[in-house]
Amino acid sequence: MYINGEWLTDGPMFPVFNPATGEEIGQVPDGTQHDATRAIEAAEAALSSWKAETAYTRSDLLYRAHQLMLSQQRELAELMTREQGKPLKASMNEVKYAADFLLWFAEEAKRVYGETIPSARSDQRFLVQKQPIGVVAAVTPWNYPISMLTRKLGPALAAGCTTVLKPAESTPLCAIAVFKILEEAGFPAGVANLVTASDPKPIGVVFCTHPVVRKLTFTGSTAVGKHLAQASAPQLKRVSMELGGHAPFIVYDDADPVHAAKGVSLVKFLNTGQACISPNRIFVQRRILEPFLETLKSRVDALRAGDGMDPANSIGPLINEAAVDKVDRQVRDAIDKGATLLAGGARLTDSGLDKGCFYDATVLTNVSPDMLIYREETFGPIAAVVPFDDEDDVIAMANDTRYGLAAYVYTQNLARALRTFEQLQFGIIGINDINPTSAAAPFGGMKESGLGREGAREGIEEYLETKLGGFSI
Ligand code: ADP
Repeated sequence: MYINGEWLTDGPMFPVFNPATGEEIGQVPDGTQHDATRAIEAAEAALSSWKAETAYTRSDLLYRAHQLMLSQQRELAELMTREQGKPLKASMNEVKYAADFLLWFAEEAKRVYGETIPSARSDQRFLVQKQPIGVVAAVTPWNYPISMLTRKLGPALAAGCTTVLKPAESTPLCAIAVFKILEEAGFPAGVANLVTASDPKPIGVVFCTHPVVRKLTFTGSTAVGKHLAQASAPQLKRVSMELGGHAPFIVYDDADPVHAAKGVSLVKFLNTGQACISPNRIFVQRRILEPFLETLKSRVDALRAGDGMDPANSIGPLINEAAVDKVDRQVRDAIDKGATLLAGGARLTDSGLDKGCFYDATVLTNVSPDMLIYREETFGPIAAVVPFDDEDDVIAMANDTRYGLAAYVYTQNLARALRTFEQLQFGIIGINDINPTSAAAPFGGMKESGLGREGAREGIEEYLETKLGGFSI
């Protein structure tokens, strides 16, 4: 843990495991409510001097952290692969993506503009200033264990807020590595604090109820996000929530089915499907279903699961046993209710894979609305294909979910692309594009996928208050 500029390495600890091998790879401090409270107090004590620094000073520190992160890209990626499981190449990409947020918000720090507004009274002037919201508590997930931290810390620190972060209990080592970078970059003591804990609940209670915390930013499941938002409501804390998704991937029959199937095979199996923007229902117009499935199956059959440190493996393990059980339950349920299994469909246990949490890359077709996989977020390597006939129907089916994070559309028809883009109730839409994300672009969901946006110009607004001055002259 890193509180008030000091590393705490004694006291009770908890183990961290490699999900590919089951090996213990480290021990980290098991923080308590007392630690969370101390971290919040340290952030409070550091706030007035941190927000009084110029934007240029805050920006310089973020630039330095960006440089340090890139210079350690390989070491950080190896740590991420050991702790979280994704293939090393994907970890390298994530570290770059994480560093992008530090760079983007180093730049945005200097663009926190206010405004003057004309008044109806000749003796009056209105001045609007943006000010940091104060102490920010952040809770981050294990699936993107470095970039989800910089996506919150970057804008919070740029805005002049001080922070306390609790990472996921399965990936605290990546969080520690990020905070070592912040320390080396020279952020003052108390500005960024880290509390690791094996049980998130007691820490969550402190974050949601401590009156000094003015903002809670969370990435994780919808259930936990709702719980934290409710617990923060009595004090009307500001909240940002980046929650679950259930992305539709629509392939119209004017699209090239081979190109679209390649797109699905790339985006669906990224991070072993453990992404909130992972396609969960793949709607394919019936006329091109056959060539689409043929390409998808052959691509999926060629994917090899295993330890992400071996470059031959493109699919890493799931994070834990519970994740394997959930995925398997959805696959069994779909098959029982009439889905056709085209590839995969079982846990992998041969060639040493039994030590980790591996599930075979799977393709199901004829998936229908009565199946769990059609409604529940999967977070696993399962491509669930739903044939459709008509444009209006598919838009209604795509929107028929409580989630609204990401969606994907493949079509060569511009009018149809625009119509679909406008009608889908999702915050992020890839049109013939499987990677509609960037530090420069606003990321976030509608409906029960969340509140607020991360990255982009909007990202820093989440950490700012608007203050109005009415001046009589
Ligand atoms: P997942 O199911 O994908 O693990 P979670 O929403 O459980 O997603 O976890 C995301 C983050 O939320 C993690 O850092 C986890 O420790 C934290 N978390 C889970 N439950 C709580 C809680 N009751 N209070 C605070 N944080 C929590």
